[in-house]
Amino acid sequence: MPYTEDQLDDFYYSTDGYCRYCGKKISRINYGSPEEIGAWVIDHVNPKNSRGSNEDHNLVPACYRCNSKKHKKTLLRWCRFLKNSEYSEDIKLFEKIIKNCKKYRDDICYIIRQVRDE
Ligand SMILES: [Zn+2]
Repeated sequence: MPYTEDQLDDFYYSTDGYCRYCGKKISRINYGSPEEIGAWVIDHVNPKNSRGSNEDHNLVPACYRCNSKKHKKTLLRWCRFLKNSEYSEDIKLFEKIIKNCKKYRDDICYIIRQVRDE
């Protein structure tokens, strides 16, 4: 689904220009340009194949690394996957996601903290 520049602005500034998951700085002008520094996309928190909606509350700005690692998983499944991974890289990413959550108070944080506390 293509987004208008105004919508991209809204998503970008909703996090002050950081990946909603890991907190990495993203670059407004590098939306959808994976080869550029700070490239980002709009991620479905719950993907469309899991009945996730196209409404704003289900959409967040995400860096390419998070988006490609999460792929078609729901946020809940992805967090569990990272937390229980045998790779320290995944566990470190989950720790970043937890830390970045301090900036927000919403359902996304609720899910992340739920997995942290399992
Ligand atoms: Zn990220």
